[in-house]
Amino acid sequence: MADPEIRIDQLTGTRVLIASGRALRPDQFSRSSRQPNGAKGCPFCEGQEGQTPPEIDADRPGDSAPDGPGWQTRTVPNLYPAVVPEPEGGCAGDDTAGAFASSADPLLASARSTEPDMFASRPGYGAHEVVVNSPKHAASLGELDQAEMALAVAAWRRRMKAHDDSAYVQLILNQGSDSGASIEHSHAQIGAMQFVPAAVARERERFNSYRERTAGASLLGEVLREEIRRGDRLVAIDDEVALICPWASRFPFEMRIIPRRPQPSFENGDGGATMLGRAVAALTDLFGEPPQLNLWVKTAPRGAEHFHWHLDLIPRLEPASAFEMATGVNINITSPESAAESLRESIA
Ligand SMILES: [Zn+2]
Repeated sequence: MADPEIRIDQLTGTRVLIASGRALRPDQFSRSSRQPNGAKGCPFCEGQEGQTPPEIDADRPGDSAPDGPGWQTRTVPNLYPAVVPEPEGGCAGDDTAGAFASSADPLLASARSTEPDMFASRPGYGAHEVVVNSPKHAASLGELDQAEMALAVAAWRRRMKAHDDSAYVQLILNQGSDSGASIEHSHAQIGAMQFVPAAVARERERFNSYRERTAGASLLGEVLREEIRRGDRLVAIDDEVALICPWASRFPFEMRIIPRRPQPSFENGDGGATMLGRAVAALTDLFGEPPQLNLWVKTAPRGAEHFHWHLDLIPRLEPASAFEMATGVNINITSPESAAESLRESIA
């Protein structure tokens, strides 16, 4: 099995991680059925710890021994990592050239030498972990009660903090077989990377330029203040965070959790767990079943002071089309205003 590689598209400059560890044959790509698998044979259920690599972290309130039952959340290395730990003594850092460039980029290389290598790549170093959100076989975050959700979110933060020497730490969660989840049992994934992905770098630059233009204001802080004032895309608000359907939502029923006091990084911030539970429950109520969804947190890259974390939640209602894939411009058939109106009626 080949180690993951970072390649840069010569035309767009966009990074791709080639991680062929999973190496599916073409016939194995057929879409999985939406029938629930249940707990039978599930490697993430309590009592099945031997089916995963040894744990890196766990909540064990009764001081039970590692890799056995008695935990509330449990973190293990991803068996099919998109990035792998750097060998001892290696020289870290793909990103000496910055967020939008890399030494594997032929455009950059052509400035230095007469013959750029069009097919240079870099090893995909970092860490890729799985945080199992609950010992019980919950197929949806909506099955966790408030205390369980708080424990899960605390574990996400703890594992992100453990990688604060990385250029960027990405937290994601896929729920449902149409969302990219290969295991039904609710789990999040942490990707600690040696580069800042372009989408995150772009947000960082927009936060910085808004701050410069306004003598210190936070871009998302100002957006949130205005969303609360207008109210038509506001779904719910509590003491910690607000839940909105973003103005330029790319997908129907897209939601965003924003801390009310600007906090650069999710992992060093607080709040959001209760609202996340309410948001998933509202989708379940609205669609009559637990939603297939993708969720991610955008947090401050290492060294970025002026950022404002947010958690984005996208129910998977329809697959992406060629237009979106070709242009990066989404066509959203449900306005965020009408999505917010429906969600306000469903949210408890
Ligand atoms: Zn399970």
